[in-house]
Formats: sequence, C-alpha cells, structure tokens
Amino acid sequence: MSRTSEPALPELPALSELEARAVRHRPAFGENAHVLCDNLVRIYKSEGVEVVALQGLDLLIDAGELVAIVGASGSGKSTLLNVLSGLDVPTAGVARVAGVDLLSMTARDRLRYRREVVGFVWQQTSRNLLPYLTARENAELPMRLAGGRRRGRADELLELMGVGYCAGRRPGEMSGGEQQRVAIAVALANSPKVVLADEPTGELDSETAEEVFAALRRANRELGVTAVIVTHDALVSGQVDRTVGIRDGRTSSETLHRASSDGRIVAEEYAVLDRVGRLQLPRDFMNELNMERRVRLALERDHIGVWPEGAEDE
Ligand code: ADP
Ligand code: MG
Repeated sequence: MSRTSEPALPELPALSELEARAVRHRPAFGENAHVLCDNLVRIYKSEGVEVVALQGLDLLIDAGELVAIVGASGSGKSTLLNVLSGLDVPTAGVARVAGVDLLSMTARDRLRYRREVVGFVWQQTSRNLLPYLTARENAELPMRLAGGRRRGRADELLELMGVGYCAGRRPGEMSGGEQQRVAIAVALANSPKVVLADEPTGELDSETAEEVFAALRRANRELGVTAVIVTHDALVSGQVDRTVGIRDGRTSSETLHRASSDGRIVAEEYAVLDRVGRLQLPRDFMNELNMERRVRLALERDHIGVWPEGAEDE
C-alpha cells in the first residue's frame, strides 16, 4: 500500500484518551436499528453436506423504511426472511427485530412474535390464505388467534389495499393479484411492526405486480409499518427507499433513492462496507480488470485506488 500525501501530524492525544473517545462516540452496531442483523450465519446440514446460506450477513433497517432485497436465486434471500419472520433460527450471529432477540426466544415468545410483531406474505398465493374462508374472515383470523378482534378492521384493511369489494369472496373467486392484496391485509391485521414479503409478485404479470407493490407502499406510508420485500422485479427499485443487494449470503451493495431538486428520483449505488472493512467488488468490475485473489490499494487524499496485481500505480 502507498500513501500519496503525508500530512504533518498534529500532537496526538494519549492512546487511552483516544480509546475512551472511540467508545464514547461509536454506539454499538445497530443499537437503534429497528431490524438488526449482525454477522448472521445460517448453515444447513443435510446428508453430511453443509450449505452456508448466510455467511456473516449485516443489515440495518430503520423503523418505517421500505426496503427491497434483491439477489440471484440461491443468494440467501428466503433464508434471511425466514429468520426475520421467526420461522427459522440462525446458526450464529445477532438478529433483532423491534427489540426482540430472535436467537434467544422461547417457543412461547416465538408464537407471540409471529402473531403480533411481524406479518408475512409469501410468493405462493395458496400459502397466504385459507381457501374455505372469505377475504374478510381471512383478515379477521389473526386477530381472533391473538384474542383481539376489532370490528370493522378487516374491512378497513381490505379497503386500504384496494380490495374492499372482495370482502365476501373466497380465494378461489379472486385473481392472483387480488389474493396477494388480501394477503397483505391479513399480514397487517394485528398491526405488526414489520411486514415481510418473499417475492410476493413472483407469480403475477407485471401490471398486477404493480398493483400489489402499490398496496405494500400504501401500507408502509399510511400505517407506518416497516416493509422488507424480496423481489426479482427491476421495476420495484424506483419505488422503494433503499434496495439491498445480497450475494453469496452477505449484503453486497445498496442503492439509495432520493428525490433530486427537480423532483426526479436519483439512484445512488454503494458497495457495503462491514465493520472490519471488508467489501465486495462488483463481479463485472473484477472481470473487466482481471482482478483475482490480490489487489493493490493506495490511499489518495479523498479516495482509495484499487489496482490489479502487477499494475503500476500513477
Ligand atoms: P434465495 O431465496 O435467495 O433463492 P435461499 O435462501 O432459498 O435463496 O437459499 C440459499 C442457499 O441455501 C441455497 O444454496 C439453497 O440451496 C440453500 N438452502 C435453502 N434452504 C435449505 C434447506 N432447507 N436445506 C438445505 N439447503 C437449503
Ligand atoms: Mg427465495
């Protein structure tokens, strides 16, 4: 590594003072985050073969955020959502949602967590709704199970999702898009803190998918529920606050969306830096410059240069 400019060092405070300052100024990782995954690991073992589905995944989400998770098939998206939904227990790491520690929950806490803290929507419409109940009855069911049905709430939620007219229909009498919007109403029934959706539009055509996303956005904006949506759909990216890319069981990139001064949505893509300083270079950048195994780094005044092994700097 080379250093291109060597600024004169000011008088340094004692090491102990620096350490004390570091402790004062740096809160614990994700201390205030609504959803926190810290170095999350999930290893599946089957017939002697180990699959590391999550390999030290870090993720922070604030209350009220609308986040899309994208990534190739097999990158660990569903594994992550299963952990966050309380269905699956990670092998190691920290996972916390709305202050609930997902690794140390008792069976009873877990049941309560799944009923009251999170709501979920699956890709398969048939997994979300009971076929012999109407949309209204489906939306009332979670409230009954939690022992607190509020009159009219199911209808309000169906209205909010734009499927009030389906209240008296059974799933077999609704389109796929209508069923998914009813499923979101069901997920919201007990006023969860977080709603999780795993490819909720995976089985829908793009126009219908658009309506389902609009419904999720409405839930996020109007009810303030934090929403985490796994999707393949490129169209979604402009409609969320942040897109998190997952590669090989770790968060690898983030795209933030913000309105520019002329009202357009501007997307800014970032690589994710973990706490010890690791980052993943985009695969296509590495291929382009034949980067393998080792790269040379140089600290510049305001950035870090990365060169393939053997290249001369400057
Ligand atoms: P995605 O949802 O991004 O497609 P998954 O989280 O489903 O990815 O899977 C991540 C990896 O873990 C894949 O290699 C997958 O084969 C493996 N995997 C997922 N579930 C299991 C399981 N129950 N048993 C064994 N391996 C699994
Ligand atoms: Mg999946």
